[in-house]
Amino acid sequence: MASCAGKLLGKVAIVTASTEGIGFAIARRLGQDGAKVMISSRKEDNVKQAVEKLKNEKLEVEGMVCHVGKTNDRSNLVKKTIERFGAIDILVSNAAVNPYFGPMMNIKEEQWDKIFDINVKAAFLLCQEAVPHIAKRGSGSIILVSSVAGYSPLSLLGPYGVSKTALLGLAKAMAPELAQSNIRVNVLAPGIIKTNFSKAIWTNDNVHNQVVKQIPMNRMGEPEDCAGTVSFLASDDSKYITGESILVTGGMTARL
Ligand code: NAP
Repeated sequence: MASCAGKLLGKVAIVTASTEGIGFAIARRLGQDGAKVMISSRKEDNVKQAVEKLKNEKLEVEGMVCHVGKTNDRSNLVKKTIERFGAIDILVSNAAVNPYFGPMMNIKEEQWDKIFDINVKAAFLLCQEAVPHIAKRGSGSIILVSSVAGYSPLSLLGPYGVSKTALLGLAKAMAPELAQSNIRVNVLAPGIIKTNFSKAIWTNDNVHNQVVKQIPMNRMGEPEDCAGTVSFLASDDSKYITGESILVTGGMTARL
């Protein structure tokens, strides 16, 4: 990957759900571009492994457990980042779940609640927790990880798609308010990226071939394909961009 060493020098970033997949690639890229990065996810072993991997690459990272759905975990994530690195400049809200796959009308209330609690409510509450600290720096950047499904509902993933549409609205609603503190809020909307989350697609040849036919660039994305966009949105290269979203889909149609 073409990293830009130094672009984020002196910056401190929090990336949620960053022990594998897209979040891990983002954490690595922000680190390669000079940021100090706090890595987190639910499982201690995953955190240890991810931190060790990136420390071996000489990146300045720390890690801790944070289940984004837990109030104390979110508070601790912000508190420990300040304790360890002294500040927060960048927040990447990447965690999401999808406990339901099927016709929308058959979803159970608790499945709906889980999707919205983790994907939308926790994303907002973490922003709320981090914003006063980012504001102290005089400027900063928040990036919410949505999905192409937030623009064009994907079959059997209706409620998940609605939660990702909500993140587009969340960024639009927060951007003008936080512009007063010189904090920008933007969205990364990945297409179909090869991670554990999308395993059902790439472990089945038939499904994989059907899916790839819908991607003009003729392949699923890799987590690293998303990371440079987040680094751009975190950096001064995008300093006049807020309330926007960038689709990283290999050309899948989502909007004009
Ligand atoms: P992934 O490879 O399955 O990685 C999931 C990560 O999330 C792991 O580090 C996991 O670690 C952590 N995690 C899960 N639940 C969590 C929670 N409640 N709190 C904190 N961490 C949690 O997933 P991914 O594909 O990279 O997805 C990342 C983001 O991209 C999600 O927002 C997803 O909706 C979005 N996205 C993905 C695709 C795709 O095709 N893959 C497409 C569009 C958008 P632990 O198990 O240790 O918690």
